[in-house]
Amino acid sequence: MQRVYLDHAATTPLDPEVFLAMKPYFSDEFGNPSSIHETGHRAYLALTRAREKVARALSSRPNEIIFTSGGTESDNLALKGAAEAHGFKGHIITTAVEHHAILHTARYLETRGVAVTYVPADEKGRVEPRSIIDALRDDTFLVSVMYANNEIGTIQPIDEIGKELQRRKVLFHTDAVQAAGSLSLDVRSLHVDMLSLSAHKFYGPKGIGALYLKNGVVIEPQQLGGGQELKRRASTENVPGIVGLAAAIEAAELKRKKESERLIALRDHLIRAVEERVEGSLLTGDRVDRLPNNVSFCFPGIEGEALVMRLSEQGFDTSSGSACTSGNLDPSHVLQAIGLDRDVSLGSLRVSLGTSTTEKDMDRFVGVLSREVAKLKTMGNVIDVACR
Ligand code: PLP
Repeated sequence: MQRVYLDHAATTPLDPEVFLAMKPYFSDEFGNPSSIHETGHRAYLALTRAREKVARALSSRPNEIIFTSGGTESDNLALKGAAEAHGFKGHIITTAVEHHAILHTARYLETRGVAVTYVPADEKGRVEPRSIIDALRDDTFLVSVMYANNEIGTIQPIDEIGKELQRRKVLFHTDAVQAAGSLSLDVRSLHVDMLSLSAHKFYGPKGIGALYLKNGVVIEPQQLGGGQELKRRASTENVPGIVGLAAAIEAAELKRKKESERLIALRDHLIRAVEERVEGSLLTGDRVDRLPNNVSFCFPGIEGEALVMRLSEQGFDTSSGSACTSGNLDPSHVLQAIGLDRDVSLGSLRVSLGTSTTEKDMDRFVGVLSREVAKLKTMGNVIDVACR
């Protein structure tokens, strides 16, 4: 059976061209960029070139790019780094629909003495700039709002929020992990001070990410040791990973406009087909302000993980926001935050498209999906099936 991979929001396959660019740095070009000999210098040059490429993709400067181990570390560094520089005092704002890399970090900061406001989203998952502005306090030093949601694909008005915060001189961070490759990463027009990236979401390698840190913004490093990464992140650099991230972001930017148009057409085709053919389907997220590759639905009365398992048996890789933890089904915090009932949100399915996705696959997928949803419904109360 030929598998159809429809989980690009979880991770993407490595672009073969990116792999080729990385390859020498696993073997012949193995030097440590901090070594002053020729072998080290060559690694240093590769690192410098990679930093320049990433900076170009973000319309930033090379010394504003810090390489990290991924999106989670970039988010942690941004929030904890800014809070520590601020003496773990004062107030920050984030939203109820963020990834756990932000939400769990914000909870941790609360234990260190930082006050946190979690601004709600509307039923489409959109955060109104006004509600961020209204939540500002005299002691607010940081706001973090994700660029696009990883579960329901809703795109936030980052530039509008950024403009307001810039005027008020409040630091602004965005988690752009899901947006990279689909949306513009021009940090100047987004008006952001910090922006998180993770290479494996845009056909780069896993375990490598970056944080854009605007010149002049002060954060405390969260990993101590050597002076690497402009003294913001100690540890010998992951040179193959960094070269891979740079090659991947360059390729993604080149293809972005055309590929986004193709994916938007496929996405809307799939959404229409599901709404027509799967009874009771409920689209989650915004219909228009949505990532080009995200299709997310709830099918009330069934359990999302059970559906994912059945689709997998039929050759389709998808995902669900509900997860089985310690024998219980936990609904996604994002779906809860947009006001869905627990039972409805347990029936969530995320289908995330990518470069390999075709219309033919989508048409075959809808047939299988409607059959499997109908079967699960006739099984009666199947909630908790996946937990047994
Ligand atoms: N932020 C968002 C919005 C994500 O979707 C993810 C991963 O799914 C992360 C952060 C974490 O990225 P990583 O797995 O590279 O640490």
